[in-house]
Amino acid sequence: MSIRELDQQYVAPTYKRFPVEIERGAGSEVFDGEGKRYIDMGSGIAVTSFGIADPVWRQAVTAQLEKVQHMSNLYYTEPCAKLAEQLCLRTGMKKVFFSNSGAEANECAIKAARKWAAEKHGPECHLIVTLENSFHGRTLTTLAATGQDHYHELYQPLTPGFVSVPAGDLEALERIVNTGRVAGLLAECIQGEGGVLPLPEGYLRAAAKLSREKEFLLMVDEVQTGNGRTGKLFAYMYEDVQPDVVSTAKGLAGGLPLGATLLGERVQDVFGYGDHGSTFGGNPVCCAGALSILNRLDDALLEEVRRKGQYLRERLACGKGVLEVTGRGLMIGIKTSRPAGEIVAACMDRGVLCLTAKDRVRLLPALNIPMELLEEAADILLDECGK
Ligand SMILES: *Cc1c(COP(=O)(O)O)cnc(C)c1O
Repeated sequence: MSIRELDQQYVAPTYKRFPVEIERGAGSEVFDGEGKRYIDMGSGIAVTSFGIADPVWRQAVTAQLEKVQHMSNLYYTEPCAKLAEQLCLRTGMKKVFFSNSGAEANECAIKAARKWAAEKHGPECHLIVTLENSFHGRTLTTLAATGQDHYHELYQPLTPGFVSVPAGDLEALERIVNTGRVAGLLAECIQGEGGVLPLPEGYLRAAAKLSREKEFLLMVDEVQTGNGRTGKLFAYMYEDVQPDVVSTAKGLAGGLPLGATLLGERVQDVFGYGDHGSTFGGNPVCCAGALSILNRLDDALLEEVRRKGQYLRERLACGKGVLEVTGRGLMIGIKTSRPAGEIVAACMDRGVLCLTAKDRVRLLPALNIPMELLEEAADILLDECGK
């Protein structure tokens, strides 16, 4: 049987896969089973921060692999401790809980808010407010947090205690906060799965101020926007706010599964022994990969991400058939007159892998994608948008 047939027979069909089998890659180029080359403008959905099999990242990962590949969290390991230190030093956050995915990073954020608020205000204060059109993961609790009804239908009953309000609507947020029952607000700075839609300017700052006055937690879901993706280490850094909780995953370890929940000053002591845990969380190989990624996300690299993002946005904005370009850094959404799915399929035929988000084309290339590849991909994408 071919790979495609095997997969179709034995893998649960939860993914509508493209008819391509990716065999290997190098940087921002990947190759299928027949040797056809593609420019990777999706990075495995913002995961392979420095592309496929990046040599520096690979060296860090394999060096750790040769020392110890896993240890129980009952023992100390160097990569985990050093990564937590770096994450805190670079963000002003105080403590880190490591898990394995974005959904789990958000689960931890929600648990932190529930426990913190119950201790501070009592058990009635347990609501988590999220934003309409948001995406926070696929577990039953993070589905409840996800502000899109169509994700909820199949799996009732979901975890109770979630309310979503329109993104950008401060009055709606204040109304729900004034019930005295809100433990925290969980929001993406730029809604990724929702269509690459940034929060309106100033909303996060106003929400941060409100969270201080009314004593609830400001939690940002940086699973997709984090780790340099938008041209800052984390997207909240554009807004001059200090969140209480930051969750991240996707690009954190450059292609290995790792989630992190960063706890700020107000919640740094919320978890004690036995309050939360994960067998694989903080795995030394994943943490070694993440440390190598984080070390390279310096000012020069972040500046490069902003510059390349600006180049792409400017070129795309004046393209034929392009209605709107949104996003920041190398997280870009494109509203097109031609259906996004059609454009993505046509680009794939021509050797460019793009993504969609809702009705838009979405681009999430590696942060170090060479300019020539970016230009080549933009040429093909623009040509297809204009058809
Ligand atoms: C992808 C994503 C998640 C879920 O991450 P998983 O690793 O798939 O669990 C959560 N929040 C946001 C904003 C995401 O983009």
